[in-house]
Amino acid sequence: TVALKDVTKVFPDGTIAVDNVSLDVNDGEFMVLLGPSGCGKSTVLRMVAGLEDPTTGAILLDGELANDLPPRDRRIAMVFQDFALYPHMTVGENIGFPLRLSGVDQQPRGERVADVASALGIGDVLSRKPSQLSGGQRQRVAMGRAIVRRPGLFLMDEPLSNLDSGLRAELRAEISGLVRELGVSTIYVTHDQAEALTMADRVAIMRKGVLQDVGTPTQVYGRPATLYVAAFLGSPR
Ligand code: ATP
Ligand code: MG
Repeated sequence: TVALKDVTKVFPDGTIAVDNVSLDVNDGEFMVLLGPSGCGKSTVLRMVAGLEDPTTGAILLDGELANDLPPRDRRIAMVFQDFALYPHMTVGENIGFPLRLSGVDQQPRGERVADVASALGIGDVLSRKPSQLSGGQRQRVAMGRAIVRRPGLFLMDEPLSNLDSGLRAELRAEISGLVRELGVSTIYVTHDQAEALTMADRVAIMRKGVLQDVGTPTQVYGRPATLYVAAFLGSPR
């Protein structure tokens, strides 16, 4: 589980990016963090990952205070919008890279990479470079690299926003299916309402650093907590 307790982030220039947010993510839950550009979504993810420190408040991972835990000790995998693949490495080397870093030998590494790649439908392109792949295949490689070490928590920051709408729809279903199969808790950031409502177990809606509403897609859409949430989701009235 992940818990944020009264978390605030003020940047040195005085910007209040996250304003007193409290949020729980249960084991195996797919939580979508939804809100317009600049509302603080990425800052929340970066604090959970340990890439940014909260100014005040607590971040708990499995019930333990994690504020001072370095990122590498958090068993977290993160996938970004631009995929950030290593261009000089093959697909197989990209997926296996986190295992190489943690000293896993070549043979077990190759077996694990093959398993993950075939689960993602990219088993036949392992020897290609990222530049020789389609956008959807690159996205799958980034997912593969993220899950190869069996993370306890998955953080995804707008992983589909660079793809065309047909591919987005296809990968939405694929990502939520894969993550549910793995049973890994996930925080998925998007500004796309449809994406949030179709993928989430629960949706957390932010505005200007403040958490407005948290609930299942049916709850937040059908009974929005504020007028802002109703307008943002296009709820019927
Ligand atoms: P987007 O959907 O555009 O990615 P976001 O919801 O992820 O937006 P954040 O990146 O979390 O938003 O930024 C929240 C606020 O904090 C914004 O006003 C942003 O300008 C500000 N901000 C982010 N990083 C810094 C920083 N290092 N220093 C100062 N302000 C920052
Ligand atoms: Mg962002």
